[in-house]
Amino acid sequence: MVRRPLSSVPDITIKVSPRGATRLKDGHVWVYRSDIVSADEATPGSLVAVTDHRGQFLGSALYSSSSQIAVRLISHDVVADLPALLRQRVADAISYRQPFVHDTNAYRVVFSEADFLPGLIVDRYHDILSLQILTQAMDTELVRSTVIAELTERLHPASIVERVDPRVRQLEELPPRASGLLQGEKTSTIFNMNAVQFKFEALAGQKTGAFLDQRENYAAAAQYAHGEALDVFCYQGGFALHVAPGCAQVWGVDSSRPALEVAEQNAALNHPQLKDKDKNKEIEWIEANAFDLLKDYSSSGQRYDTIILDPPAFAKTKRDLDAALRGYKELNLRALKMLRPGGILVTCSCSYHVSFPDFLGMLADAARDARRNLRLVEVRGQAKDHPVLLNVAETAYLKCVIANVSE
Ligand code: SAH
Repeated sequence: MVRRPLSSVPDITIKVSPRGATRLKDGHVWVYRSDIVSADEATPGSLVAVTDHRGQFLGSALYSSSSQIAVRLISHDVVADLPALLRQRVADAISYRQPFVHDTNAYRVVFSEADFLPGLIVDRYHDILSLQILTQAMDTELVRSTVIAELTERLHPASIVERVDPRVRQLEELPPRASGLLQGEKTSTIFNMNAVQFKFEALAGQKTGAFLDQRENYAAAAQYAHGEALDVFCYQGGFALHVAPGCAQVWGVDSSRPALEVAEQNAALNHPQLKDKDKNKEIEWIEANAFDLLKDYSSSGQRYDTIILDPPAFAKTKRDLDAALRGYKELNLRALKMLRPGGILVTCSCSYHVSFPDFLGMLADAARDARRNLRLVEVRGQAKDHPVLLNVAETAYLKCVIANVSE
């Protein structure tokens, strides 16, 4: 692959079709390859000027030679100095969060398109930053070094790690690269959200290590959870640990043993806090397939006061939508049948392809089939450090509904 350094002033022009131009004028930031009319000499990851088919300038963008998303807009203006723009974007992302992000030292610092840094994700876990690079442009040395320098200057992390998704690098036709330290030596730490403590191993676990997008939903769920609670798809215990102080007993279910081992360590970390309220309280972790377990438990007449459902994304593409909705319905139907009157259901979906109306429709069907009345207590999305850019629908993906169940 020929790789040219990113030039600052885009001297390469990409012409897009009327459909591509309309998309950009409507406030979206992507142009698909099928809407590219001509791409001059655009090299992988280069900074380009984007024009409509008549040559009218639409903005500056980062180009990918392999992704279906060929163009990701980075500015509506001509970019004279790309490093300066990147530094400004990182600074803006940090200050955007200041009024919104409280009670945590773990949060998403940069959320790709939603922070006008398409292809870059940065998560902070106390004193460790975890970086994900998703595009050719963000993988260039100039971008990497600029972003890392700015993050270091502003946040003073003990270390910075990169988490690599080999599939993404393959799709972007980037050479293989291992996850690892980019700066510093520290790879484990303890972070807290809403006064609950979590262990963090920077080079293990799913995503960049935790599901930070649920942070505000953890606190919301803790307000209503009571009695006997079942946290299904509990991973390292995010919901279970948050609801434990308000519940009589909590069970966490996941199919991943390594996740449950960390959950158990997290519970021990928070133990003094749990013990204050109830000396004998413990969370029980159950390794099981959630579908099988819910089926067994519901047919054997198990009852709960609180059930949390936070499955992995069932719809990875639009084509999976129907199957995904069937999966969500099965889980929710079983949970609803097991909830006592006055019970609380906390039910989530992190599939972008399942919209809020789809999700609420599925839940209404499940309530009807379970012969339960559901009253919506809260309809929630992702935490504010994962901003939703209104004209870029893809930035909104998490749904979290908290409902009260009655007969
Ligand atoms: N609630 C968690 C995040 C859940 S992510 C939190 O707030 O941190 C989804 C989890 O589902 C993962 O931990 C994964 O191991 C688990 N999982 C995936 N398929 C499963 C299945 N069939 N049964 C049980 N757990 C499953």
